[in-house]
Amino acid sequence: MQTVVAPTDHPDRLKDAVSQAVDLLKRGECVALPTETVYGLAADAMNPEAVAKIFAAKERPAFDPLIVHLSHRDRLEEVAMVPEEIAKDVARITEHFWPGPLTLVLPKSAAVPDLVTSGLPTVAVRMSANPIFRRVVTSLAQPLAAPSANRFGRISPTSAAAVVKELDGRIPLIVDGGACHAGIESTIISITPRKEGKPLIRVLRAGPVTKEDLQPFGKVEFANHHTEAGEKPEVPGQMPSHYAPRTPLRLLEKPEDFQPEEGKRYALLSYRGGEEDGYLFLTDWLQSLTLSPGSGKLPEAAVRFFHCLRALDECGADEIVAEPLPERGMGVALMEKLRRAAAK
Ligand code: AMP
Ligand code: MG
Repeated sequence: MQTVVAPTDHPDRLKDAVSQAVDLLKRGECVALPTETVYGLAADAMNPEAVAKIFAAKERPAFDPLIVHLSHRDRLEEVAMVPEEIAKDVARITEHFWPGPLTLVLPKSAAVPDLVTSGLPTVAVRMSANPIFRRVVTSLAQPLAAPSANRFGRISPTSAAAVVKELDGRIPLIVDGGACHAGIESTIISITPRKEGKPLIRVLRAGPVTKEDLQPFGKVEFANHHTEAGEKPEVPGQMPSHYAPRTPLRLLEKPEDFQPEEGKRYALLSYRGGEEDGYLFLTDWLQSLTLSPGSGKLPEAAVRFFHCLRALDECGADEIVAEPLPERGMGVALMEKLRRAAAK
């Protein structure tokens, strides 16, 4: 299959790209679209044959459920059944965060094919803020299932060029919407009522919407993500090894623990490129890239994260050494991804 990359850098080209995408989606094909988090591989969520093509193109195992993207908040009831006890909370949360990088896990409606949810009784739902994605999902007038547009377990794509590297020849169309501005996958939450006060918000996957952002809406708690290989993860689809570069990656918590092996070439994924952090001159790095030079801003680190990881993966090093980031705000999601990238 030939993969076409459709530019959107002029209103006419944007219109053309959107209509190509909508035509293909109507015919049950899957297409790569930009979102504010990472590029998604989208298909009509209500068409199981189309959804099956996502799993095939990504080589994604059927037990890993997909996120369903809506065109409007008021279409939530088509895919989910919002329990009465949390209806007000769901309304407050979606009014505040949608469109945006927050996914809610809710009981699914019968209309959603089991393939989308991997047979689970729940469905993960969000509404993207990316204007191109929104145009496509609105014109199609159907929800879209859209996981990240990479081969299963690999580095998520934050540019059309990265999608080409992952899926060239496997999908008919990539809509090039430029770089993604959140840079990491959506935060996933579930909401449980409590006897008194605000509900319990469980963060099933850390992401751009942080614990601090969610706190006004409930008591926030992180689900247990740190499963060992072989153990069944609490959250479906959150494998111990994920976001993996082909080059082995080591998360080096303390610079003094580094003992370079003779003849091995190392690359550095630095947090803020600070000499005082002790990593910059540990060895003669083949290449070193910094997530947020100087100030170490976590949202900036998130935007650059997958791009830098991919570049280091391609630089020819034998091993990538990653500096830890502070585990607050978006740093929680980034550290989780580094741990998974480092897991075998
Ligand atoms: P992505 O690959 O970014 O589309 O994210 C899909 C992830 O969302 C899956 O790997 C799961 O971890 C999570 N997910 C999807 N559906 C559910 C669900 N029904 N319950 C809990 N987590 C879900
Ligand atoms: Mg993914």
